[in-house]
Amino acid sequence: MEKIVLSDEEWRQKLTPEQYHVLRQAGTERAFTGELNAEKRDGEFVCAGCGTKLFDSAAKFDSGCGWPSFTAPTEAEAVSEFEDVSHGMRRIEVRCTTCDGHLGHVFPDGPGPGGLRYCMNSAALEFDPEQD
Ligand SMILES: [Zn+2]
Repeated sequence: MEKIVLSDEEWRQKLTPEQYHVLRQAGTERAFTGELNAEKRDGEFVCAGCGTKLFDSAAKFDSGCGWPSFTAPTEAEAVSEFEDVSHGMRRIEVRCTTCDGHLGHVFPDGPGPGGLRYCMNSAALEFDPEQD
């Protein structure tokens, strides 16, 4: 998979301030503020930084946590996982493999067969509704 590498200045120009804060500074939007949290249409969720397909609407579920939540990425290789011990917690950070943008965290309390909950920032994603 080809990497997308931009300078900090290029990311600042390409992204909105909120997208930049989440994707490039590993920020977290406030719960229930992201516009994709309640998105229920069929379609694909792509990286707001580079457009890579990350999650399918079929994997989205209402976790009640206030952020878009998925049981699994569309392709396992599309996301990369890293240990994150910031804020006094041990969590698994999820980043876009293509552009290294911070997406959110994955927790072991999901409903699917994998038992995972990919808790993503809405600002890190863009929604591409299915056309029919
Ligand atoms: Zn990306």
